[in-house]
Amino acid sequence: MCMLCIWCMGVFEPRKQGEHVVAKGLGGSFTIPNVCLTCDNRLGDVADGPLMDHFAMLVKRASLGLKGQNRVVPDVMRAILADVGTAADDPTFRVDIDASSRDRRLDVSVRPHVDLDVTVNGDDVQVQVNALRAGSRHPERVEALFKSALRKKGVTDQLKLDTLWASLEDHVRDVSERRLIDIPFEYRADVHMAGFVKIAYELAYHWLGANWLSDPIAAEMRRCALAGEDGSPKLTGSLRTADEIRKSPLRVRNGGQTHVAALCPFSGGYAVMMRLLDEFEAFIIVADDASPYRHPAQDAVVMDAVARTHRHTSLGDLIRPIDTKD
Ligand SMILES: [Zn+2]
Repeated sequence: MCMLCIWCMGVFEPRKQGEHVVAKGLGGSFTIPNVCLTCDNRLGDVADGPLMDHFAMLVKRASLGLKGQNRVVPDVMRAILADVGTAADDPTFRVDIDASSRDRRLDVSVRPHVDLDVTVNGDDVQVQVNALRAGSRHPERVEALFKSALRKKGVTDQLKLDTLWASLEDHVRDVSERRLIDIPFEYRADVHMAGFVKIAYELAYHWLGANWLSDPIAAEMRRCALAGEDGSPKLTGSLRTADEIRKSPLRVRNGGQTHVAALCPFSGGYAVMMRLLDEFEAFIIVADDASPYRHPAQDAVVMDAVARTHRHTSLGDLIRPIDTKD
């Protein structure tokens, strides 16, 4: 028995596990069956992954204890800080960085560095030291690095290597001096739109049915989400952030640790409106013309109530009736 994949339109053998509309790493458990493994993996890389790695989502995931693909709850500092930095005034002065937000720790250790100009002329070996820096973790290892650099230049005599090391050892620079270190960090805040397009696409299919898949907007959403693009300019929609969410008609009682979505009639067509963990709200047009579709009986869904315990709560418990007065 084969099934049609709503992303590649190919047929596949049904899988045991469905595709998570909202990624498991964001606490999602609402699944649809019609996605093949290839598309599921592709969407994980280009749509779900960047959304989960958005800075605001990392902070949420850390506070809610939501594990990622690697089965680890993200550590925000570790996720955004690079693990290698350099001195502001010397790019060869490299440091390894180990950061942890959990125990508020930032360990910086200097890497050893050897830079020599070696001239070998028969038995005569001239060594000019450009840099000879011991690391801060294992300062004794600089000797081995020095000798291995010379061996690469053809100096293999152990006695010679020992003599050269003894004469140049004093050039080893102290790493305890204070340096200003540049630590690059990556704050991903503009790569998550494909994640929202993916969710809106799967929900629109869930509500509008299979004939929606041939809607021109659906085709454009497939292209954008699978390419990991931001959805503009051909897709119409908007993305709002926490400050604006209070005005939302989707009112949630439990402090916002919930994914909630609705299909809204909009300008003669349909839009999917969704809110993830009270942090983001997206409003994405999924059809310009509502007439080919039957208005779905169910027009809102609480996809998940996400708490530390992944508690599930019914729709009625969470949402007040939509108040049209304000
Ligand atoms: Zn597929």
